[in-house]
Amino acid sequence: MQIKFYNTLTRKKEEFTPISKDIVTMYSCGPTVYKDATIGNMRTNIFMDTLRRTLKYNGYKLKHVMNITDVGHLVSDADEGEDKMIKSAKEQGKTPLEIAEYYTNLFMKDLERLNIDLPEIICKATDNIKEMIEYVQKLIENGYAYETSTAIYFDVSKLDSYGILSGINLKDQKAGARVELDEEKRNPYDFALWIKAPENHLMKWESPWGLSYPGWHIECSTMGKKYLGEQFDIHTGGVDLIPTHHENEIAQSKGCTGKIPARFWMHGEFLLINGGKMSKSLNNVYLVEDIVKRGYSPLAYKLFCFTSHYRNKLNFTWEGIDAADKSLIKLREAYAKHLQGEDALSEEEIKEYKTKFQEAINDDLNMPVAMSIVWEVAKNNKKSKQLAELLLDFDRVLGLKIDEKTEETVQDVPTEVLKLLEERNIARQNKDWVESDRLRDLIKEKGYMVKDSKDGTTLEKV
Ligand code: AMP
Ligand code: ZN
Repeated sequence: MQIKFYNTLTRKKEEFTPISKDIVTMYSCGPTVYKDATIGNMRTNIFMDTLRRTLKYNGYKLKHVMNITDVGHLVSDADEGEDKMIKSAKEQGKTPLEIAEYYTNLFMKDLERLNIDLPEIICKATDNIKEMIEYVQKLIENGYAYETSTAIYFDVSKLDSYGILSGINLKDQKAGARVELDEEKRNPYDFALWIKAPENHLMKWESPWGLSYPGWHIECSTMGKKYLGEQFDIHTGGVDLIPTHHENEIAQSKGCTGKIPARFWMHGEFLLINGGKMSKSLNNVYLVEDIVKRGYSPLAYKLFCFTSHYRNKLNFTWEGIDAADKSLIKLREAYAKHLQGEDALSEEEIKEYKTKFQEAINDDLNMPVAMSIVWEVAKNNKKSKQLAELLLDFDRVLGLKIDEKTEETVQDVPTEVLKLLEERNIARQNKDWVESDRLRDLIKEKGYMVKDSKDGTTLEKV
């Protein structure tokens, strides 16, 4: 069956066929392991998981790479500020290596809890320093890079098409060019490939340019080329990566090999919290751990993500998770009932469901439509082992562990309490502390203690 994906590069849905007949090559930008991954980060990973599973459902094998950024991602994506890893290490009194190990382990644990199908290759930036240096040397050789007293920069003016992914036009941008920290840069959009380490810098390597460390963008170009070759099928990431990181990856590849590295560029939209951004200052940064702490199955969050197309924004609320958790239980109960059923359906009926489901996922991963078919099957009045089998077949894409039981693990926080908590979060966002305290007391009367910490708000039974 035909597969169509929306390609950010061409700004349209296109038929997908891989370069090699039955193996899809794919690269996903992975986490920078300096802090906890949020449920926002995890939405992007759930999108990656659904993509992998859809390709497998269509019979493809996969060679999929995800990197772990453990050096070189500066506080601003545009090469400014401190390295995120080093900043976090200093704040926590640990070494960057300890920080990387700690947050990589947490990230992997979250992938497991969300039943995310792991990429075939997961690689760390710090294991690929030699290859990155070679890549930068090649860019210098090809005339696309230059050295200043602080870094090796990519010269975007050497390309005829910098900005093709986000559609920026350099000529329009130059007039309002921003203030540059490095006056030796030739063009405002030039970006650092390799950065010379100041004295006492914690992570640095010997290189032809002295002790130094990689820029963030070169890491992905290098690992993509090393493991997947000069051109592969799909590149994924969150939408925030389009204008800088992915644009720069394309620039580097064009400078090195003359090619755009991936044919399809697919980007997942952001998760919002109460209609706005997730941020520490609003105390609304939630982790998978917070979902688990409130007694929900982490897979309820995955099911919640399926309520929206991956290219649309999705608004997170605890009520939404509560509803998703209940739906997950219903889905598993429906599966169990079908498994006991003795009714028979015709082959055509089963085939029609299967075709409709596959059409939905093959239509740019349309999970809301795919889920409506899943529910049709789950709620079918006939109770039949064939339908149980069909649900299990769909679960190859959903990864919701439909054949598991959840009842014992669910602690039912009443919807009424969740609603009050939601209102309190909004009051806090509006800095209405009187209202926030009133709601906290009201929640306490209902039997739950609200606990605020720097990592967010949790509920505990009194
Ligand atoms: P960060 O750790 O904030 O750099 O995020 C890592 C990646 O996760 C980002 O590049 C995004 O692609 C993705 N991401 C971050 N926040 C969100 C969000 N709220 N919703 C969806 N994806 C996100
Ligand atoms: Zn990347």
